[in-house]
Amino acid sequence: MSTPIVELKAVGKHFRAADGSARAVLEGVDFTLREGEIVALLGQSGSGKSTMLRIMAGLIQADEGQVLYRGMPLYGTARGIRMVFQSFALFPWLTVQKNVELGLEAQGMPPEERARRAAKVIDLIGLSGFEGALPRELSGGMRQRVGIARALVMEPEVLLMDEAFSALDVLTGERLREEILELWQSGQIPTKAILVVSHNIEEAVMMADRVLIFASDPGRVRAELPISLQQPRKAESAEVRHLIDKVYELMTASSGRRGAGGGGLISEREVKLQLGDRLPQADIAHMEGILELLAEEPFHGRADLPKLAEETELTDAELLEVLNALILLGFAYLTNGDILLTELGGRYVKSGERQQMFARQLLEHVPLIAYICHGLAQDKSGDLPEDLFLKLLRFTLSEEEAERALRVAIEWGRYGDLFEYNFNTGVIQRSEEDKQDAS
Ligand code: ADP
Ligand code: MG
Repeated sequence: MSTPIVELKAVGKHFRAADGSARAVLEGVDFTLREGEIVALLGQSGSGKSTMLRIMAGLIQADEGQVLYRGMPLYGTARGIRMVFQSFALFPWLTVQKNVELGLEAQGMPPEERARRAAKVIDLIGLSGFEGALPRELSGGMRQRVGIARALVMEPEVLLMDEAFSALDVLTGERLREEILELWQSGQIPTKAILVVSHNIEEAVMMADRVLIFASDPGRVRAELPISLQQPRKAESAEVRHLIDKVYELMTASSGRRGAGGGGLISEREVKLQLGDRLPQADIAHMEGILELLAEEPFHGRADLPKLAEETELTDAELLEVLNALILLGFAYLTNGDILLTELGGRYVKSGERQQMFARQLLEHVPLIAYICHGLAQDKSGDLPEDLFLKLLRFTLSEEEAERALRVAIEWGRYGDLFEYNFNTGVIQRSEEDKQDAS
């Protein structure tokens, strides 16, 4: 085994929720990044991946456990560890060249040497000719190159890439990824290990020597898949397709935890949600789109997940959220890595009364929505401020997740015509018909 560069041992991190209680974002995270490897980290949004990277970069401290860099405890940021963020985070008033030089300047490097180092990296990363440009004059892809150049110019041993390609369109992202791999393999950069957070399973399989699957609540490494295929890899090859299948399988394997946040797809045994659980981030159009796709040729009600993924425009992370929603609501279920329409799901696709069917499933399977409806029915005016429900959700969820769960509940409930929502006032209202019924 090659030398460890960064080691996390039983790392834990807590953040305070709005009600002041501590919430475990990471717990018992064990991970070693070794010389010569690229590791990919996959997991649902909110599972703590960015938090883990920030701890590794020394930007924030772990509350529990140990972080070692070259065998020594890591204190603060280390020169040899650099992070590339998804948001380009460039200084808008500085040229490309100045943005790239910034870190070197902070180290007190003389201007000529800075310029020389920057020019070399700018050339490597395909930004030649843009030295004098301002960030706003660049396309998204070019801006992300600047973000990467800014990390590479520091000649880091360890590069941490946090969804660095995911804000880019597919082709631009792929190209940039391939270029980074080339730089890495040809030894043109001194980087000794790379950790990439991705929400794209194919990207992870194409790049990494190991794929880690992260679970949420609290975040921890749940599964690992070593990948020994040689680079460069072909996305269409049978080996790569097989590995993508395997990653799907690992992501969908039951985590043995309740709720929709286990890190993969929920299995049937777990589908009973409770009031304060998070809800899958799935919009109605996507849910109906996937149901229709599943019902049609060539699937006829049963699909291999990677095949289904190929047929949609959704990212893997989005697709998993949509599938979780469909499973929760009783429209689909999961067996052996395949997703199947339920009898109800089949009827739904053909039905002219989708809204009513949807509403029934919501009331039965989403306690938050049932609770809102119950509250509205009890209330004389039939109006309730959303804050009421947010407060409740904050007992079990972070502020951000509480907000997200309520947004989903409102969108779904409006579609099912269970209630209305005033976007200006944030008030949830009984739908008009029901008000008349009640009076
Ligand atoms: P990921 O990168 O996997 O999407 P993050 O690491 O960004 O997840 O966040 C994990 C959880 O920690 C989220 O619920 C987020 O709201 C919470 N969190 C992250 N940073 C903070 C912070 N500074 N204060 C409070 N909560 C935070
Ligand atoms: Mg993140």
